[in-house]
Amino acid sequence: MPDALPTAAESRLDSAIRQLKFRDPETARKLAGTIARVTKEIGRSPVSVMHVCGSHEQAIAKFGLRATFPKDLNVIMGPGCPVCITDMPEVDEGVALARQGLLIASYGDMLKVRGTVQSLNDAQADGADVAVVYSASQAVELARSTDREVVFFATGFETTAVATAAVIRSNPPKNFSVLSAHKYIPPVMEIVAEMPENRVEGFLAAGHAATITGWGIFEAFAEKHRLPVVVAGFEPLDILAGLARLVELVRDREPAVVNMFPRCVTKEGNRRAQEELWSVFRPVGGRWRGIAHVPNGNLRLRDEWAHLDARRRFPIDLASLWDYAPSALTADCICGDIMSGIASPSNCKLFGKECVPDTPVGACMVSSEGTCKIWHQYGGHPDLGAL
Ligand code: SF4
Ligand code: SF4
Repeated sequence: MPDALPTAAESRLDSAIRQLKFRDPETARKLAGTIARVTKEIGRSPVSVMHVCGSHEQAIAKFGLRATFPKDLNVIMGPGCPVCITDMPEVDEGVALARQGLLIASYGDMLKVRGTVQSLNDAQADGADVAVVYSASQAVELARSTDREVVFFATGFETTAVATAAVIRSNPPKNFSVLSAHKYIPPVMEIVAEMPENRVEGFLAAGHAATITGWGIFEAFAEKHRLPVVVAGFEPLDILAGLARLVELVRDREPAVVNMFPRCVTKEGNRRAQEELWSVFRPVGGRWRGIAHVPNGNLRLRDEWAHLDARRRFPIDLASLWDYAPSALTADCICGDIMSGIASPSNCKLFGKECVPDTPVGACMVSSEGTCKIWHQYGGHPDLGAL
């Protein structure tokens, strides 16, 4: 007789035990000790490394990992939050379409992010129809349930773009279209690596995104910029082990790519997902909010899918937004410097005062992956001394 399948309770227990394996305090202490020792061996201060994933910053803040980092190691959060880097003109397009009477569907955090003058929430308060969805397929369901034109304002990196590509290829209803603000991470690492101000000496790459792209994609980058890249997962020990390996590579001046997330990431990545992604999207240059123009950093629909591309289906009346004035406070927002690794939230004079999660001034205070929101929620850089 075959073994009985585990019950739901047993599966939950298994998953909890697996998680604990990656949260063992003794191993965490050992890894923190390695990071401190190797950073000291480098003999410079500060040694700056960057991660480019909101989930890494969330885990670092949530588990208080910054308190274990040596003072000489600067672990910077780069442009890793998909909400933060969606540029103002892209939000403007969504707002304009909503004000023109189309039903806009997007992820919850996107509703709070201001474009040049308004957010989707502001447009909704003025009477526009905006719906929160949790996935691209839910936006398709919404279109199936109505005769109205539904535009899915699609944001996020290659991980979420794959899901958008899948619904585009699945023959969605005629009243469905996509306003793509998707971004592609590898090109922005090039830009950040070349910024003279931040002196990043190595990158911790996001394990989620690498499950799609594979770790091999970073080899040319590491070679070109002579910088090491370590792919890491999201449990505390994943991050500490990734950082320990990264500082070793910095110390040894070895511009290698190391995969520290082998339980999910392979060198080639998910070929099928890559094929789906590139059959729907093409990379084009465009701005990332507050950072720079990123060549090949934006994903737009290929010509074959023009009939599902909101930009080509509808005239977008941006001029109608010019009657609204932007908040005067936005001039003081330094989100761009924070995402480029040049500043921290505590350097912003609005942080925790005029700018809080309920009334965000800049995009970094909106999303659960935004640095300002994370620092506001968890306290950012706790100084708890050595573990
Ligand atoms: S989309 Fe995934 S990999 Fe990319 S920043 Fe967000 S959590 Fe990290
Ligand atoms: S605290 Fe607010 S205003 Fe300051 S950088 Fe962050 S999001 Fe912008």
